[in-house]
Amino acid sequence: MDELERMLGAVIGGVRTWEEEWEPFVRHPSLDVAGVRLQEILAEYAARLRDNYPFFHPRYAGQMLKPPHPVALAAYAGAMLVNPNNHALDGGPATAAMEKECVAAIAAMFGLPKQTLGHLTTSGTIANLEALWIARELRPAERIVVGANAHYTHERMAGLLRLELETLPMDRVGRVDLDALEASLRRGGVGTVILTAGTTGLGAVDPIAEAVQLACRHGARVHVDAAYGGFYRILADSDSAGLASEIRSDLRAISDADSVVVDPHKHGCQPYGCGCVLFRDPAVGAIYRHDSPYTYFTSDELHLGEISLECSRAGASAGALWATLQAFPLTPDGLGRILGSCRNAARNWFALLQDSDALQAFVEPALDVVTFFPRGSRSPAALDAASQDLFERAMRDASDPIFLSVLRVGARLLPSGLNRDEVGDPVRILRSVLMKPEHEAWVPRLHARLEALAKGQS
Ligand SMILES: *Cc1c(COP(=O)(O)O)cnc(C)c1O
Repeated sequence: MDELERMLGAVIGGVRTWEEEWEPFVRHPSLDVAGVRLQEILAEYAARLRDNYPFFHPRYAGQMLKPPHPVALAAYAGAMLVNPNNHALDGGPATAAMEKECVAAIAAMFGLPKQTLGHLTTSGTIANLEALWIARELRPAERIVVGANAHYTHERMAGLLRLELETLPMDRVGRVDLDALEASLRRGGVGTVILTAGTTGLGAVDPIAEAVQLACRHGARVHVDAAYGGFYRILADSDSAGLASEIRSDLRAISDADSVVVDPHKHGCQPYGCGCVLFRDPAVGAIYRHDSPYTYFTSDELHLGEISLECSRAGASAGALWATLQAFPLTPDGLGRILGSCRNAARNWFALLQDSDALQAFVEPALDVVTFFPRGSRSPAALDAASQDLFERAMRDASDPIFLSVLRVGARLLPSGLNRDEVGDPVRILRSVLMKPEHEAWVPRLHARLEALAKGQS
């Protein structure tokens, strides 16, 4: 039995023991699978699942994708036998309590006050939607400002909420431009400033420490979208973890935000369906208030369904996160060790790129997203084509495949020395998300292989 099977056995066995304490009953024949060709169905199912990129493997260094930790998987599967619904306390008291513990642990990681209100969501998108909705309810007549580097969800959700949104330019390394932010705040009418800790494209961290002070001076609220990079806060207290001191102070400044979003289904080792939103001021709970004739109460205690826009939510999701955080607490020696290796992978790759005559780094990675392109192109259009060509050749090579992603960047951000006659269209470069700790050991190999491919060798 492998590790996962042992864990699954322990959790499922435990839940089964509880079930057996109840009076036995006969399962209805309509639920029988005896007449079904189950082996064949499941074999076909497993075969169809092969139609995927190998997200589990260090060769896959493309998008923000990886399987959950086996602890999360076993805990999730075990909870599914019960199938609790964290919509209300009565839908699953055990996982509702676990959700509160997880939220408290995440709030503590960010250095937010003890009374911080929050809950898990189905995704970072929904978590951000809730934060923007609260932003609108608190400051209905004022606009929100967001960097051009932010996730596209903010613009879309602002449209959904009919919130006025102003987009600010970003600097050369993909962070929101502070001068533009200050100018916007000076003009007045800014309700909430959205900052990103770990942008989806470059993994950049906005200058949160300075931006928070600017926002505070002009009476604006701050929302930090830390969906991707939030868990790096664990490594921000020590200078031995490989984060630049500026990044560390920006991550620490998340403690001053009015609301924060982080995605446990990205760097928290969870299966999809696990985002989290936090609010510094628990009074925002009143905005969520609803009067439901369906919601059954056996307790006066606050349940998280009362402060969530979503109704049914998987209790299994809270259970999986809870179990994972027991095994890998939000400390430098817990989840921080995993993140530390991801960060090392990115730093090491950047160093290799600095010395490479075939590949050139686009920006220095702030966290664990590495961006680069083949050297030697004379024009943005040629660089675009060379990146796409390398992307495809790396992926299609049957004996030694490497899976990257491409990112479109503004041509004006590319290094000088390039003929910029064709400036206008965004240019594709290569992007690699190193979110598996095994990438630390694999980076030299990935780099050497891509260098060889870029030089036209196979
Ligand atoms: C991934 C991401 C989102 C969207 O979250 P989902 O969980 O994919 O819905 C929002 N913002 C940032 C910065 C992200 O990286």
